[in-house]
Amino acid sequence: MRTELHLHDRRFSHPAAPLDAVRNLGILAHVDAGKTTVTERILYVTGTTHKRGEVHDGTTVTDFDPQERDRGITIFAAAVSCDWDGHRVNLIDTPGHVDFSDEVVRSLRVLDGAVAVFDAVAGVEPQSESVWRQADRFGVPRIAFVNKLDRAGADLDSAVASIRERLHPAPLVVQLPIGSEDGFRGVVDLVRMRALVWAEEAEGAAGTGGVEEGPVPEGLSEEAGRRRRLLEEAVAELHPGALEEFCTPAGLSARTLAGALRDLTRTGDGVVVLCGSAYRNRGIEPLLDAVVAYLPSPSDVPAVRGTLDGGEQVRAADPDAPFAALAFKVHSTATGRLTYLRLYSGTIRKGEVVAVRDANATRTERIGRILRVQADRHAQLDRAVAGDIVAVVGLKSARAGSTLCAPGAPLLLEAPVTAEPVVSVA
Ligand code: GDP
Repeated sequence: MRTELHLHDRRFSHPAAPLDAVRNLGILAHVDAGKTTVTERILYVTGTTHKRGEVHDGTTVTDFDPQERDRGITIFAAAVSCDWDGHRVNLIDTPGHVDFSDEVVRSLRVLDGAVAVFDAVAGVEPQSESVWRQADRFGVPRIAFVNKLDRAGADLDSAVASIRERLHPAPLVVQLPIGSEDGFRGVVDLVRMRALVWAEEAEGAAGTGGVEEGPVPEGLSEEAGRRRRLLEEAVAELHPGALEEFCTPAGLSARTLAGALRDLTRTGDGVVVLCGSAYRNRGIEPLLDAVVAYLPSPSDVPAVRGTLDGGEQVRAADPDAPFAALAFKVHSTATGRLTYLRLYSGTIRKGEVVAVRDANATRTERIGRILRVQADRHAQLDRAVAGDIVAVVGLKSARAGSTLCAPGAPLLLEAPVTAEPVVSVA
């Protein structure tokens, strides 16, 4: 039996998303691998934007700086919130261009997880390698998305081989493509052993978002079974908890497999690999499902550390703890000067006075409007809590890297780590 998956049922989140329903996500890629297109499709599929922007006609909504649009590369980090399946996904844009590696490092600090996008023809490229290493240094759990499966010469297996050889994680391939190159039209989900097939659409036209779920096509069932076994073997080798069930004739249940994949992602011992074609809007829904299923929430990651008068302080992701946040991006827009914040602990309310701290100075300022940025729109909030990514209007002294904290409980969050030398690209 085939079922049409109703997108509108999945485009929701809790009005005030609980901490474990938040995903602070970055998309990492070599320039041209498709980061902007993937971001764009995520916003489209989640209903955040209603018109699909195209990179080549300059209408993408995440790259809202005209300079950035003109150059066709993502220079300025910005954060966009969208909703998926009861979760809030905050997309933090990480610049992919090597010249802007300091910004990459700063945005990596505020992520809890990332999707690394690879080109299915080129595989791992130098910038994907350097950003991958930076993400390793910051302990950012990742899943991989092999994009452009519709291109001539696209090959998931060789892209996976290059991930294994050049990045050295254990790739855990959870999908089998249905069709190849121009005929790529769906995937077999090897965890649930179900097929997902996307509706045909005119190239470049606004997609219907139509995806149908059904049984694994007969012609692919043997290959899907073989690959499922390979996935189970790889998981059983890395995850002691899965070993017992693996040794039974039935092998791993979908539930155990998904649980093990989540654990391996969060420890960094394995990297879940998905595939698709962002341009054709194929593969985005299962990618979002994987983000929600496998990547951590702010409550799953270690508490942030800061200093006060030389002593160390630890702040857990608790809305009732003293307020502490890191400003990771300052952006002048028509709305005013936006300071993008990652809240690590506590709660801030509109109109509240906070301390803005840098290594040599502390000032107090009043929080003006608090905004959740949703592509080209802003939602006004009365408050923001630990784990949130928001933009605050009206702060004069905060700059990227400043700590914001409760005046009665001051601290300085860790000084940014200096970027490693990046691989230069000819
Ligand atoms: P970024 O530099 O990583 O942000 O990459 P972009 O999203 O700007 O994509 C670079 C180019 O690849 C653009 O011309 C896109 O239209 C194209 N592109 C992105 N995704 C796909 C895909 O899935 N298939 C194909 N054939 N082209 C794609």
